[in-house]
Amino acid sequence: MAGNASVAEAAAKPAAYTPASRTPAPQSNFAPWKDPAKNPIVRFENVTKRFGDFVAIKDCTLDIYEREFFALLGPSGCGKSTLLRMLAGFEKPTEGRIFVNGKDITDLAPYERTDVNMMFQSYALFPHMTVERNIGFGLRQDGMEKSAIEARVAEAMALLELGKFAQRKPHQLSGGQQQRVALARAIAKKPRIMLLDEPLGALDKRLRQQAQFELMRIQETTGTTFVIVTHDQEEAMTVASRIAVMNHGELAHIATPGEIYEFPGSRYVANFIGDVNIFEGKVSAIDGNDVTIDWPSGNDSFTAQGSAGLTIGQQVWLAMRPEKVRIFQTKPTEACNAIPGKVVDVGYLGSISHYHVKVASGQQVTALRANAAQTVEHNIKWDDDVWLEWPYDAGMILTK
Ligand code: ATP
Repeated sequence: MAGNASVAEAAAKPAAYTPASRTPAPQSNFAPWKDPAKNPIVRFENVTKRFGDFVAIKDCTLDIYEREFFALLGPSGCGKSTLLRMLAGFEKPTEGRIFVNGKDITDLAPYERTDVNMMFQSYALFPHMTVERNIGFGLRQDGMEKSAIEARVAEAMALLELGKFAQRKPHQLSGGQQQRVALARAIAKKPRIMLLDEPLGALDKRLRQQAQFELMRIQETTGTTFVIVTHDQEEAMTVASRIAVMNHGELAHIATPGEIYEFPGSRYVANFIGDVNIFEGKVSAIDGNDVTIDWPSGNDSFTAQGSAGLTIGQQVWLAMRPEKVRIFQTKPTEACNAIPGKVVDVGYLGSISHYHVKVASGQQVTALRANAAQTVEHNIKWDDDVWLEWPYDAGMILTK
């Protein structure tokens, strides 16, 4: 192992990480899943995992592409970690196969899966080892030559900005710094696929947000494919190229964050990603793409768009994001959906206010309003009679 000076010196140099070319910036047209000519780097093929009688993963088929930042998202117990652990080799599918880069790895032990490395939720750092020895651990296990290990460790420390902590032990680091050491240790092995199980779980909200951008920077710099497990929908929305929303061991929806937010496939997904108002009704008329939905509990009807696959009389749910619902003191005159109600709660959050409005059906509908003007006076208050309004194309018609 190099002395402090040489490591620190190396750590001060800009990172020269080269396992793959840079990941395109998020605003680019990076969407390999849309390209039929592209092969996935990871494929789960009809994978089922049972623990005794309990089905933890049910017939999952999923493709992940090189240089994606892919998030497995869902509530506790839905099977996210089990799916990740099967990819790492710590669990074996009961049925189905797993492929990495076209090769069937289902029967390989974790140490034989050289393209894959996992960063554990607990960080699993060795308390008696310094930061640099922790980072080099996996490389020593692999029997790598000493000078090559030193170079890799220095490179990983530079990337994670850990140079000045090289000689510290884990207990002399903050939670965020320990997380960076764990990430550096995993990155140092230069895996093609990095698996992260709730990597930011131990951090407070502020640090967590910073760390999300850090993860994105590292993923972009190294060009590694990241698969992250998280139960935090904001985190998944921030970091991921695509998200798989899971429900009781099944993949409920796989899409980009924007697609999942704007066009969730079901009430479950709409509720899991962000806040949503849902009106239950029946299709009463279809005119081209315009759909009339009767809302019996509110004794009203709405117009929405998206008639594909719908039939008259079908039960549907109209889902509306709070920021698409506008709130007025008088009935709007424009041709839009508009319903009256009474304000039962106002939440002032500085930049925006939330209005909870009780409507004819008895349900509470949430509207968001940006506080654009600098004032502490709010013209809509508790107990006010108001009107809620949204354009015809603002809602999503859900059939399940
Ligand atoms: P969390 O966010 O709480 O970690 P998760 O979505 O990652 O949850 P998993 O850890 O994948 O969920 O577990 C999925 C289900 O499988 C849970 O009901 C869990 O109790 C069960 N399970 C996981 N491992 C085992 C095991 N070794 N034996 C029996 N049941 C298990």
